[in-house]
Amino acid sequence: MSSFTTSKASTLSYLVIGGGMSGLIAATVLRDRHMQVTVVDKGRAIGGRMATRRIKNAEYGEGIFDYGAQYFTVKSSRFQALVNSWMQEGIVKQWSLNNHILSREVYYRGVSSNRAIAHHLAENLDVHTDTRVTEITWLDDYWQVQTETNDTFSADVLLLTPPLPQTLELLERSQIELAPDTKQRLEQIVYYRCIAVLALLAQPSQIPNPGGMQLDGNLLSWIACNHKKGISPQGNAVTLHANPEFSETHWEADNVVITNQLFAAASPWLGSSVIDYQVHRWRYSQPQTVYGEPYLVITEPGPIVICGDAFIQPNVEGAVLSGLAAADYLLNV
Ligand SMILES: Cc1cc2nc3c(=O)[nH]c(=O)nc-3n(C[C@H](O)[C@H](O)[C@H](O)COP(=O)(O)OP(=O)(O)OC[C@H]3O[C@@H](n4cnc5c(N)ncnc54)[C@H](O)[C@@H]3O)c2cc1C
Repeated sequence: MSSFTTSKASTLSYLVIGGGMSGLIAATVLRDRHMQVTVVDKGRAIGGRMATRRIKNAEYGEGIFDYGAQYFTVKSSRFQALVNSWMQEGIVKQWSLNNHILSREVYYRGVSSNRAIAHHLAENLDVHTDTRVTEITWLDDYWQVQTETNDTFSADVLLLTPPLPQTLELLERSQIELAPDTKQRLEQIVYYRCIAVLALLAQPSQIPNPGGMQLDGNLLSWIACNHKKGISPQGNAVTLHANPEFSETHWEADNVVITNQLFAAASPWLGSSVIDYQVHRWRYSQPQTVYGEPYLVITEPGPIVICGDAFIQPNVEGAVLSGLAAADYLLNV
């Protein structure tokens, strides 16, 4: 891994592009070491793929849906320590899923929602949502960052955390060239697509407690009752994830075509009529392979570190560990 050097490490300013778990955790580490750090995200809310949304209905109440990551697991002691601290603060709790009855894996989720974990991380951070970065330019000794809304940010160092195809697109648009072998390795990492359907039901679903089931049927890979999960106190809010094959083949299909098939496949667990629904297409849900190193450093024309879930593990833990490793690197340059 190449490195950049600086004589003014403690006074550097950092701009984190992407307020998902990777970017937010890196930003908190930098902030805790008194660095000047700003986070920008194109989304209306932070959290990225830790996503939660509401559907309101006057008669049937408000449904609250986790519709990206549903839970997370922990393999490393570093992430476990962080998760333990979140549990003590009441942000995270265990979710007693018994999908893999033989595995001893423990499942965790946000107490009020998964996006709430991102909100917790963002407390006391300088975060700008609705801010899509369109171009980055190195101006001799600092980065100038242009956004879709014609705002400009500047920083000494950039941390890029979007899904890799979006990061590569931004670099290309900004005419920043990567070493050919590095570019090729990054381009080879492709992501599963996932069509998510958020369905508000008239009556409680038939999904058994504790409210989440992995499925290996023809169309669905996951179904969850957010009411039984404990995040949707009023509304009977059900999240459906189409499997990668269905998501790929129906990507361009009309929402009615998609939901007709998915609701039919889910009917044994729905057991009630759908009052309202929304469809969300995750073009980049989880990477199919990973880069194999925790982050990537670019030194020319200026310092950039790239991290996220496509580096060591294609999930929430991987995103956090990659963000932590990137921040450690930046603090020790
Ligand atoms: C449907 C689905 C189910 C999943 N299930 C699980 C699960 O059960 N367990 C698990 O551990 N993981 C799961 N995952 C994966 C997990 O959500 C991700 O691995 C993790 O959240 C990725 O975090 P990240 O910070 O690397 O990326 P992201 O969360 O994608 O964050 C990147 C951020 O960059 C922003 N961005 C992109 N381009 C720009 C730009 N030009 N300017 C500004 N901002 C930009 C995006 O808005 C986004 O917020 C799931 C994901 C999906 C979609």
